[in-house]
Amino acid sequence: MTTPQYRRILLKLSGEALLGGQSHGIDPQLLTRLAQEIADLTAQRMQVAVVIGGGNLFRGAGLAAAGMNRVTADHMGMLATVMNALAMQDALEQCGVAARVLSALRMEQVCEEYTARGAVRHLERGRVTLFAAGTGNPFFTTDSAASLRAAEIRADLLIKATKVDGIYAADPKVQPDAHFYSQLTYAQVLRDNLQVMDTTAVVLCRDHHIPVRVLNIYQPGALARVIAGEAIGSLITA
Ligand code: UDP
Repeated sequence: MTTPQYRRILLKLSGEALLGGQSHGIDPQLLTRLAQEIADLTAQRMQVAVVIGGGNLFRGAGLAAAGMNRVTADHMGMLATVMNALAMQDALEQCGVAARVLSALRMEQVCEEYTARGAVRHLERGRVTLFAAGTGNPFFTTDSAASLRAAEIRADLLIKATKVDGIYAADPKVQPDAHFYSQLTYAQVLRDNLQVMDTTAVVLCRDHHIPVRVLNIYQPGALARVIAGEAIGSLITA
């Protein structure tokens, strides 16, 4: 077995990553596969924190566009991320891995309240920590939550799991010959407005020196390969 390059990682999964072939909700088989991949990392003594989005259920911007008050809509979006985190907690436990959901919004009957200290304590005890409810504030995204939490827990790497192989100059589904970046800088992402994470998230990672690896989560084994040091996907650094 190779020695892992990283000690503590933060994995950002979009809500869409749980969709599989469905139009909404959670694909149970896909959830189990993702949980097993995370479990494989903990078996290598990796400390794994996860931020899950809510786009498979609700996105605030979409609800607001349909006429809902934006703050209420974002509250629904944040609650959607809690549901996804609970589903992942259950799937991880079924794989035999201890996991805890830590929410930025207080709901003590359902899960723990997020504190950075509490999160680090769980991680050091080998529990997967699932950060739910984003930052706890409307008008933010779970990408921003991922970079914020990565900075708070001092993650060595933020892995952004997507549906494509990494970062392209344009959407590869629209422009099949779009340039693929295997490595690039935060400045390049910001300057060229590359659609990988929102600006707040990129700036936080830049300011706190957190490298970001963008990869295709539909490629089985991708997480283990990154941890083993393989340069798959795209890497954003200074
Ligand atoms: N959200 C929010 N504040 C946050 C994080 C998320 O209000 O700090 C809400 C927002 O409405 C967002 C939804 O939660 O649309 C789901 O998050 P996101 O869109 O980032 O999910 P993803 O696209 O990753 O599935």
